[in-house]
Amino acid sequence: MRVHIDQEKCCGAGSCVLSAPEVFDQREEDGIVVLLDAAPPAELHDAVREAAAICPAAAITVELVERV
Ligand code: SF4
Repeated sequence: MRVHIDQEKCCGAGSCVLSAPEVFDQREEDGIVVLLDAAPPAELHDAVREAAAICPAAAITVELVERV
C-alpha cells in the first residue's frame, strides 16, 4: 500500500489522524496533514482506508502495490 496526501486539498479536519495516528499527523501551525508513513504495514491498512474514506476534502489517496 502506498499512501498519498494532497496538502493543497486538506482542510485540517483531523479525521485521518483520529483514524490512523501512526500514519497521519497534523502540522501544529495550521492543522494541515503530514504523512508519517507512506508505506504502512498491513495491520494499518484498514485504518488508512477508513481515513481516506472519511476525509472530507478527499485529500488522501491509497494505491495498492505489490509488497512483501
Ligand atoms: S481528514 Fe483529510 S482534510 Fe482532515 S486533516 Fe486529514 S487529510 Fe486533511
